[in-house]
Amino acid sequence: MIDTSKTVVRFAPSPTGFLHIGNLRPALFNWLFALQNGGEFILRLDDTDTERSKAEYAQAIERDLSWIGIDAHRKARQSDRIASYDAAAARLREAGLLYACYETPDEIERRRKRLMARGLPPVYDRAALRLNEADKAALEAEGRKPHWRFLLPNFDGDPFATRRTQVHFTDLIRGEQTVDLASMSDPVLIRADGSYLYTLPSVVDDADMGVSHVIRGGDHITNTGVQTALFKALGVDIPDFGHHNLLQDASGAGLSKRIGSFSLASLRDEGFEAMAVASLAALTGSSRSVTACASMSELADRFDMTGASRSDARFDAIELQSLNERLLHEMPYGLATERLKAIDADLGEPFWLAVRPNLEKFSDVEEWARIVRGDFEPIAQDQEDETFLSRAKELLPPQPWSDTVWQDWTTDLKSSTGRKGRALFMPLRMALTGQQHGPELAALLPLIGWEETVRRLP
Ligand code: GLU
Repeated sequence: MIDTSKTVVRFAPSPTGFLHIGNLRPALFNWLFALQNGGEFILRLDDTDTERSKAEYAQAIERDLSWIGIDAHRKARQSDRIASYDAAAARLREAGLLYACYETPDEIERRRKRLMARGLPPVYDRAALRLNEADKAALEAEGRKPHWRFLLPNFDGDPFATRRTQVHFTDLIRGEQTVDLASMSDPVLIRADGSYLYTLPSVVDDADMGVSHVIRGGDHITNTGVQTALFKALGVDIPDFGHHNLLQDASGAGLSKRIGSFSLASLRDEGFEAMAVASLAALTGSSRSVTACASMSELADRFDMTGASRSDARFDAIELQSLNERLLHEMPYGLATERLKAIDADLGEPFWLAVRPNLEKFSDVEEWARIVRGDFEPIAQDQEDETFLSRAKELLPPQPWSDTVWQDWTTDLKSSTGRKGRALFMPLRMALTGQQHGPELAALLPLIGWEETVRRLP
């Protein structure tokens, strides 16, 4: 028995491409909603389109979600559940709600164009309902295979006299919504090759898996009208629905056009923190300002699904960079340790605290570890600076160093050479790090140590 008091959500991508920041949004909305309600999250692969679905994409989806920190409680794939869809289709057929159509794609397209040319909505006219058994047998003898449409409940007795049929639902995000079934074509549920389109399998799965809340993009509102009719036709419980706004890039273009640059795989390869990507994908276009949340539980505390606005959410790539830096600049050593070890850059907590304010990407830390270890190309300095650096070497405080070694050293150098500001610090920075910019030298000097400092000065 399914416990219906429980929150059960699902993220249902079709494995026909890679996840990008736009379709991460429904994944996160479901995941965060499940976290907030102690619910269950199902990853369901909508892979009934066998031509376009690829194992490579299915694997990539799982890898990308796990990088983000989404770890499904249950997994399912539609290609394993065809028998359940066949059973549901048989029930619809018996009830006279699923009917065979024989028009070719070309014929459908010609009819559509004719209607549009006359200024009429391109709605399928249910011509196939007029076919009798002999007509169908003749068409099949010609080699035609039927595709199957669901007879929408938008008429009283005569299916050719449709009437306004409003489906009302209270959207978790948008409030009261209405979809009129009269203005739609009967949806094709089964293709001529026998494969299922997503519409029916999704309803069967949501019912069988006890899905309590269907949270998905605003482009599915019409589907919700159709699917509500299917839930009713099958006599199963109807879940609650929530439709979030879609992400657009800063220019207002839909993200799908630039998928490559915002695919999760490419963001990961570019070194963005998963939580920077997740914070942006979940919080953009809501009443909450976009802040960098360091963990999923922090993001779940901040996330308010009902506060998502209805208009499209503009996503700004520049913001991703600044969220990323904020996460790195505040990342505690405990959270960084394993990752530092993995790239052989764990030089202890003082090192991490010294360099983290200078990181744009986590991997930048490798360079600073190399620099502290002395593995860098020295920069040639002019004669005057070389003389200054020799003097610095003479004045370097002996070991053991106190906590104020940098201040003591530079104060002495200042009074001994008369240099101050940039003229004092830049030659030291270049000699000690081979760089013109970087973390506070006061913090780096003790990490470099007396011996190495002496070695780096002329
Ligand atoms: N496979 C559908 C899609 O990716 C799922 C929509 C839904 O969540 O019902 O758009």
